[in-house]
Amino acid sequence: MAISLGSIADDYTGASDLANTLTKNGLRTVQTVGIPDPSLALPNVDAVVVSLKIRSVPAPEAVTAATEAERWLRQRGAGHVLYKICSTFDSTDAGNIGPVTEALCDAAGGGSVLVTPAFPETGRTVYLGHLFVGGQPLNESPLKDHPLNPMHDANLVRVLTRQSRGAVGLIDLAAIAAGPAAVRARLDALRTTGVTMAIADAIFERDLETLGELALEASVSTGASGLGLGLARALVRSGRISGSATAEDVIRPVGGLSAIIAGSCSKATLRQLEVAERSMPVLRLDPERLISGPDEIAAAISWAGDRISAGPVIVAASSAPETVSRLQSQYGREASGHAIETATSIIAAELVERGVRRLVVAGGETSGAAVDRLAIPAFLIGPEIAPGVPVLRTVGNQKGDMLLALKSGNFGGDDFFAAALAMMH
Ligand code: ADP
Repeated sequence: MAISLGSIADDYTGASDLANTLTKNGLRTVQTVGIPDPSLALPNVDAVVVSLKIRSVPAPEAVTAATEAERWLRQRGAGHVLYKICSTFDSTDAGNIGPVTEALCDAAGGGSVLVTPAFPETGRTVYLGHLFVGGQPLNESPLKDHPLNPMHDANLVRVLTRQSRGAVGLIDLAAIAAGPAAVRARLDALRTTGVTMAIADAIFERDLETLGELALEASVSTGASGLGLGLARALVRSGRISGSATAEDVIRPVGGLSAIIAGSCSKATLRQLEVAERSMPVLRLDPERLISGPDEIAAAISWAGDRISAGPVIVAASSAPETVSRLQSQYGREASGHAIETATSIIAAELVERGVRRLVVAGGETSGAAVDRLAIPAFLIGPEIAPGVPVLRTVGNQKGDMLLALKSGNFGGDDFFAAALAMMH
């Protein structure tokens, strides 16, 4: 069956956030890890989000990857493709939002593209083309000091113009509040003046619902998860998809053993480990030994192997802030983080070799490393364990279907680990 909505996400966590938003708004959604192999067999889904890592790479590289992903999505029948960007419009004057949007627009045969990073749920709103982060204009928010993409201008019409070949216009809130016909008229008027991209205001979800409806009349749009919400709701409203896709069948049992790997040192994860320790065996890895050689990894695998058939186990690299900073000053922040991610991903992969099919990973980078090592090509998004953390079902996994929960460090309540395992059978 053809997919209704395709998306190309400029980074992995953004892709997960969008895939979760689409699922919560009624679309059965798969998220892929990179551009999938042409042979990947997709289950019956409404939407596919292709996760790329192109937010901060040189623009030509981003354009090549995005257009390749677009071809893959169109071949699967995607009528509309959303280029998923960050809700804080992270980019520089050299790109990549403008160049990629223009390339996707060209590939789809031209027209003009709606662009909005608005996502009211997380405090990102756009008014008269100016992006606000919470109560602050973008250029006064912490994003002004972003290490890769410092944002010094809140006027997105200007920001996008600096990145683009074509002219950029504005669809203001007055037009959006007047409804789809008014927005359509405004877009038509802009198009006659040669505008290829239009920044759209949006303050409330209803604005994004209007924009979603309009965006579907074109082949391409650019936005954050907020526009994803608008597109999903418009698709459900239009009757083009049933909207009754239950996330429940995503979590039908996979059997096998279960394990938790923690690499996040966030306050929430440290607390979750403390709570889980009362009911499950927890191995606290020695981070220094992890970095200095393979013995600690082998010991962890053997420790887990002895216990895992009796029930879930936790293997944690996570340490308190003092230990983390000591290690970082000794080995360097990047090097120590990377070495520990490699170690935890090897442990995860070895446990899967030993029959683990239900896996919880705490930590964003830690999760990314584990998914890469396990070579999982894609996930179907299931119901949420905690806000922003859904259960995932692997798609096209060589070892057979697995259920996963990949948690950003600070997400989830104190009993997150038990809550996750209770949803994974
Ligand atoms: P979060 O989602 O909380 O940011 P991440 O997994 O993204 O978690 O980042 C945590 C980083 O800390 C990873 O690079 C991980 O390898 C590293 N790390 C894990 N344990 C330790 C430790 N004991 N000391 C130093 N760094 C650690």
